[in-house]
Amino acid sequence: MDVSHIRPHIHRRPMSIRKRKTVGIDLGTTNTVVARNFETLPMEGGGCVMPSAVAFLPSGAKLIGKAARRRRAMDPRNTILSAKRVIGARWRSSYTSQFREHYPYDLLEGPDGWAVFKTRAGIVCPVEVGSTIIAGLCERTNCPVQDVHAVVTAPVGFDNRRREATALAVSNAKFASVRVIEEPIATALAYLHRSSLKYAFVYDLGGGTFDAAVVDCSSYPFRVIGHGGDPYLGGDDVDRTIALHIANRTLARDGWDLGTDAVTFDRLVLACELAKCELSESEQAAIAIPSVDPAAPESCGIISITREQLQQLTLDLVRRTFVTCDEVLAQAGLKARDMEAIFLAGGSTRLPGLNAYIESYFGKRPRTDLNPMQVVGLGASLAAARPAVAELLDPCA
Ligand code: ADP
Ligand code: MG
Repeated sequence: MDVSHIRPHIHRRPMSIRKRKTVGIDLGTTNTVVARNFETLPMEGGGCVMPSAVAFLPSGAKLIGKAARRRRAMDPRNTILSAKRVIGARWRSSYTSQFREHYPYDLLEGPDGWAVFKTRAGIVCPVEVGSTIIAGLCERTNCPVQDVHAVVTAPVGFDNRRREATALAVSNAKFASVRVIEEPIATALAYLHRSSLKYAFVYDLGGGTFDAAVVDCSSYPFRVIGHGGDPYLGGDDVDRTIALHIANRTLARDGWDLGTDAVTFDRLVLACELAKCELSESEQAAIAIPSVDPAAPESCGIISITREQLQQLTLDLVRRTFVTCDEVLAQAGLKARDMEAIFLAGGSTRLPGLNAYIESYFGKRPRTDLNPMQVVGLGASLAAARPAVAELLDPCA
């Protein structure tokens, strides 16, 4: 992959810096967000968070975002989700082999050794999927790209190759220049703006991954001094766990199996995701089985799930995140009580009861005042608007 042209432009004239237009982009495994000057950009039609999904239709058309995501079970090989998991990944790498175990795609070795998707639209590489998502989101948010300088976030674990591929996805969307910032640093920046404390812990539980990091915020640039995670632990697991629970209940109560047909089961998973999000606000949520499976007998009706049940179902998942937190703190040579602030990122940190566990683990209430699904993009927008900081974030450094 020739990435020489995406090397960031270094601006030496302060006047041009002051005038430059900038954005921050969080190209997430599950969702993508674009922000400018500490404000996420809304899409026409509402919402700031767009699913990182691209679908290639039989007609030759492409769908992105929510409409694409809805097709994932109907047309799995041509509905690409979670492409970030293999962006910049070699065919012969653990990223690719793990990905192939979890996803139904037709993945191939590209001519130059990268993992690529085989779709009805031909060979599509993960970088192209990223560019399509970013270009589509920019269009929906009326975000100009020409002469705009972007900062994109990448997980701490990404090596140079994977960072460059992420930057290339942005650069292909025609931004003037691209720099990369590590995700927990973006989160810490969003919360602190300027340094005001020594150690912060970033607990990021997204749709597919859990990432934890200790960030030294005592001076610029903020530095990650310990990090770790579980690449296959997140909200998707919660949705599937609830769906299996509901399917078991329907089978036991009504003798109807929602698990035999992949498309039906996926509709159930999507309904369970909505119910899960509702449980952040209410004690109870309902899943209407006939709308999930029109063929289901009338007796199936509605199945309710309570907040308490969701907490029970996610106990093991939550416990696993703290095993990672132990490891990350040990790596940094610090204790939970040394953390002066705990910053939450990732939509799944809204799971009921999770805040209380985090508080008892760290002996401190986590910060939740910024939207956890937007905080990474917000931090990236700050980094983008401050060339003095952004210059320290060269992906090729
Ligand atoms: P990523 O970093 O993987 O792109 P996000 O930070 O956008 O992911 O988080 C997406 C995940 O957050 C999804 O699994 C979604 O279901 C979950 N989520 C969003 N809102 C809530 C909520 N209120 N309660 C629990 N999970 C939520
Ligand atoms: Mg994320």
